[in-house]
Amino acid sequence: MSTSGGRESLRLLGVLGGMSWTSTEVYYRLLNEGVAERLGGLHSARLLLHSVDFDPIAARQHSGDWAGTADILGEAARGLAAAGAEGVLLATNTMHKIADRVERATGLPLLHIADATAESIRGAGLSRVGLLGTAFTMEDSFLVDRLAVHGVEALVPPAAARAEVHRIIYDELVLDVVREESRATYRAIMADLETAGAQGMVLGCTEIGLLVGAHDTTVPVFDSTRLHAAAAVDWMLGKDR
Ligand code: GLU
Repeated sequence: MSTSGGRESLRLLGVLGGMSWTSTEVYYRLLNEGVAERLGGLHSARLLLHSVDFDPIAARQHSGDWAGTADILGEAARGLAAAGAEGVLLATNTMHKIADRVERATGLPLLHIADATAESIRGAGLSRVGLLGTAFTMEDSFLVDRLAVHGVEALVPPAAARAEVHRIIYDELVLDVVREESRATYRAIMADLETAGAQGMVLGCTEIGLLVGAHDTTVPVFDSTRLHAAAAVDWMLGKDR
């Protein structure tokens, strides 16, 4: 057995997951791999996971009842805080629409997915990117505006393509269905965004990395799931960004 000693100082991360479980599974692996890579030995992520039932959340999203989603996630976040979490990670782009309400419910720092994504884009020297995500993420301002604070301009696909990107997320990816035909659709939409001037591509929905990656476009890819998890690893290790 090879351990690296008794480091006990990892911050305890509270994860709000299950939106959907197919991406939370990826987060769980990335958080553990990230800590193991940084600390060696048998280190792994200290975390509490509240994985919600996604159906009532998705129903409220689609009926516009965002206050209802905030009630569910606020209660879950308070549970994480009561159990000792020192910070909260909301493992979805879309639900960052109500991120401030989740943060207020706990008083704990919330590790914002757009901050992690934008820092990586700026770090690569880019400022204009294509954004793929749910219709809520592409059409509302909460994520686009937060990227803009960092000096990142987001281009979104035209309406018909946005509808198809959204459909593939909710009809396929959150159900763990990955279809070659859908991959081709995303590739074509990303190619059009490149033509429109995108210097990079943001996978701004935490399931999209299940379908496409760096090899599906000629510009750099910024996968929000990976970047968010990497920021959370830094935070667990005591680094505030
Ligand atoms: N995981 C997705 C996202 O990153 C969509 C599911 C949800 O609505 O939370 O936006």
